[in-house]
Amino acid sequence: MCRHAAWLGAPRPLTALIQDPEYGLLKQSYAPRRQRHGTVNADGFGMGWYDPSLDGPVRYRRSIPIWADANLPALAQVARSGCLLAAVRCATTGMPIEESATPPFTDGPWLLSHNGRVARDAVRDLADGAESACDSAWLAAAAFQRLRAGLALGEALAEVVAHAGAKDPGARLNLLACDSVSLAATVWGDTLFYRRSQDGVLVASEPLHDLSGWQAVPERSLLLSSPEGVHIQPL
Ligand code: GLN
Repeated sequence: MCRHAAWLGAPRPLTALIQDPEYGLLKQSYAPRRQRHGTVNADGFGMGWYDPSLDGPVRYRRSIPIWADANLPALAQVARSGCLLAAVRCATTGMPIEESATPPFTDGPWLLSHNGRVARDAVRDLADGAESACDSAWLAAAAFQRLRAGLALGEALAEVVAHAGAKDPGARLNLLACDSVSLAATVWGDTLFYRRSQDGVLVASEPLHDLSGWQAVPERSLLLSSPEGVHIQPL
């Protein structure tokens, strides 16, 4: 399982997900505390954010461990926005280790990450045009296809998870996606937590620090977050 995290609220730098919190994604890349599958997330990392001067998100990803990128700390400090998403990857056995297999995936205004695994046959008829043979890229392509067709963020994720989960009962399908003004995340086989603060909400595979206020999202549910607040519903 990879680890992913996102922020929606007042503008913050990506360091708020990566290196500032005690158990941010940098620490989670080599010492995750709640990871159920895999031990080290060293097969790549990525981050995405929104800049008002651009139509879509800015996305930066590499197929090396996050701690090995000497340019990252300064870049993460200046990459600021009110909607941030980042991930560190532990490749599933048999999946390629390459930049195009590394979340976040992006299309139009959307960024998407996946924690888990799914048999690609279970996703084959949901989408074509994935950028990598990695199962996560196939799930991303399936979600983007639905988003382009006009589904809302949460609806698109829920539909992909329901289809893929029905075809592969052993699938783990924790998806996390955003579009600059809202976030959606599914819980299907792995942990997910969120924490509200005065100026926004953090969503992460596991808590980024030991401050109080982290809430576990129940298995098989969909979390939706927008400026109106956080809403959780069963999948
Ligand atoms: N199956 C995905 C991959 O290979 C995600 C792996 C994970 O969550 N560890 O990248």
